[in-house]
Amino acid sequence: MNKGSVVFVCLILILLLGCKASGQLKFSEGIDGEELKEMVSYLASKELKGRKTGEIGQFKAAQYISDEFKKLGLSSFETSDTYYQEFSLVQSAPDFVSLTISSTDLIHEKDFLYIGEHNMSEEKDARIHYVDLESGLPWERDVLNKVVLVYPEDGHSSISSISQRFSNQLVVVIVDESLKEFRKNFSSELNRKTHLKKSDEITSPGIMVINSDVASIVFDFPIEDLKKFGIQDPNKRYATNIKYFIKRKEQVLKTQNVIGLLEGSEQKHEYVVISAHYDHEGEINGAIFQGADDNASGVAALLDIAESFVVAKNSRFPPKKSIIFAAFTAEEQGLFGSDHFVNNLTFPDINIVANLNMDMIGRIAPEYDDYGNYVYLLGEDKLSDDLKRLAKIVNDQYIGLDLDFNQDGIYPENYIKLSDQWSFAKKEIPVLFYFGGLHDDYHLPSDTPEKIDYGILEKRAKLVFHTAYHLSHALESAMD
Ligand SMILES: [Zn+2]
Repeated sequence: MNKGSVVFVCLILILLLGCKASGQLKFSEGIDGEELKEMVSYLASKELKGRKTGEIGQFKAAQYISDEFKKLGLSSFETSDTYYQEFSLVQSAPDFVSLTISSTDLIHEKDFLYIGEHNMSEEKDARIHYVDLESGLPWERDVLNKVVLVYPEDGHSSISSISQRFSNQLVVVIVDESLKEFRKNFSSELNRKTHLKKSDEITSPGIMVINSDVASIVFDFPIEDLKKFGIQDPNKRYATNIKYFIKRKEQVLKTQNVIGLLEGSEQKHEYVVISAHYDHEGEINGAIFQGADDNASGVAALLDIAESFVVAKNSRFPPKKSIIFAAFTAEEQGLFGSDHFVNNLTFPDINIVANLNMDMIGRIAPEYDDYGNYVYLLGEDKLSDDLKRLAKIVNDQYIGLDLDFNQDGIYPENYIKLSDQWSFAKKEIPVLFYFGGLHDDYHLPSDTPEKIDYGILEKRAKLVFHTAYHLSHALESAMD
């Protein structure tokens, strides 16, 4: 039977749905564990040095993705003549930090630690205002723009909530732990010394951490009173003069998303965005963070999914809606690439119907142990009930993974904010987040290519392809 008659038979059978299914399965045959392995092995190789945003390894990865898009014959997006969507970020790290409390000079990193992004042009003199965290008094609005002193019960574990509670002011935090213990216990996003940011706008407080032994020497009131009495007369009893200065060195970094487009055959101005971030943590203290699962796995899947769409198009079954293949940069330090993408769409009539984002889809998480036939599939429920339903139908028909919606899980809210889909969800664009779960090598140099399960990566990538393919047709037909 020649090609023409196959297509003809298919056209008839599409009405019966069977051939559509088998045809669609054929399109995804190129999504193959061996090929995925090759791509992950390059992207997560030591040569790319952990693909840190703004550094040579990230640029090499961008070039690789762009070359693959070119081989596939994808178009560039909007009016651009390249797949690169370039933008700048500011990289900033503390250069000099000083703190003087009632005329005692404290030494940075020895007597106090600084956490935050502030950058000042000159030293500031201020009066410190004690806030009782338990009673919440005085109210945050009464200490707005003032330097605040707090003495939380639970040391390092309260830093995140303190950082959310106050605005961009300075907050001095007394902890009972030694600074060494504090540093060991408190490893979090807030603890980063080098920050990437979009602009000079600072929305979080600068936090100075001092140990209670040091605090009891420098404050001219007994600090145990703070715990004993709580708030009584904050302005009089617990006010002290302080001086502080935070100077950072800043550097402008250029980086780029890599965006490819396959135009739809009918609703060209409706888009399905399939995405994966390609940056990672780089090299820290001589150790390369290769980021095989995070997220060479998702990028490899993205490239094979793009190939499957090209096969579908060449087989005369193109997607009806347009498909955007987006490899995002600068995810690790704050979802900057996806944020830039959703906030810089220049065509006013662009309608993104959904974002399917893949991040860390090549491993089996410890909670699944020996049973590896699953994927976490998370969505912002208010926005994407239909999407989850569609994913379920498609999965039943083509793939047969266990879909874990993590409905009674402990992390649903955190997970959805964990990767680039969050930039889309914030714009009320429906999202699906494909995720294998956290594992012991998460954000460690030991996240290496040989630990990837390429069989499960293939299955998960196929699920994304089939879901996107259905989405790219009118929703009614996708749902029947
Ligand atoms: Zn990631």
